[in-house]
Amino acid sequence: MFMRYFSRLLSAMAGPRPVVLSGPSGAGKSTLLKKLMQEYDSVFGFSVSHTTRNPRPGEQDGKDYHFVTREAMQAGIDNGEFIESAEFSGNMYGTSKAAVQAVQAKNLICILDIDMQGVKNIKRTDLNPLYISIQPPSIDVLENRLRHRKTESEESLQRRLQIATVDMELSKEPGMFDVQIVNDNLEVAYGQLKHALLEEINVVKKVNMSS
Ligand code: ADP
Ligand code: 5GP
Repeated sequence: MFMRYFSRLLSAMAGPRPVVLSGPSGAGKSTLLKKLMQEYDSVFGFSVSHTTRNPRPGEQDGKDYHFVTREAMQAGIDNGEFIESAEFSGNMYGTSKAAVQAVQAKNLICILDIDMQGVKNIKRTDLNPLYISIQPPSIDVLENRLRHRKTESEESLQRRLQIATVDMELSKEPGMFDVQIVNDNLEVAYGQLKHALLEEINVVKKVNMSS
């Protein structure tokens, strides 16, 4: 009882409640996130994950991801440096404790963009985030978006669509997410995302204005 109270107190002291965004690859998480960070750069901070996949054109090391080798990533995991990690479509991805702490130290709302395995693993920690699901209108639209993005080989695209089919079902499980957003029209979806976060945004704005 006391320990549970103490751990809640500690996580409250760590700053505002983090936010998890999850949904199939190509659903529009990064697009929505970038819009949010642009409009509210003094409210949100991105948890920069580690990955073993290659950078895409335009992606910056240390900003979009920490791009690392499998050996370095495994060593970090073995060393207890990660809150969660997962294998996704042939590569490793993970959230380091340092990535989340860096954002929380600035008293910003920490945003994690993670897959379904990450969601399940974070639920076993005391991070206590708000879980938001970003879904495409259909698997066909998802395929179109991934093809137009031109970042995946045919093999990678097929693997991502396969994972998406399973994850889209899993995400409907009651209690898995606090908020479900279907990203059909971008502006509508962005409005829904802002609405879901409004309360937290106002709290952070108030605290940061008075400090
Ligand atoms: P994710 O981060 O979930 O993998 P992205 O944000 O990279 O997805 O979006 C996948 C592709 O779909 C990108 O090319 C993006 O520009 C496009 N996109 C995102 N949202 C929409 C939308 N509402 N309508 C049309 N295209 C979109
Ligand atoms: P992408 O290669 O398209 O950037 O990401 C592929 C998938 O990995 C996406 O579903 C994304 O949410 C997820 N992902 C990115 N970073 C992490 C992480 O740190 N942990 C987990 N579990 N998944 C992540």
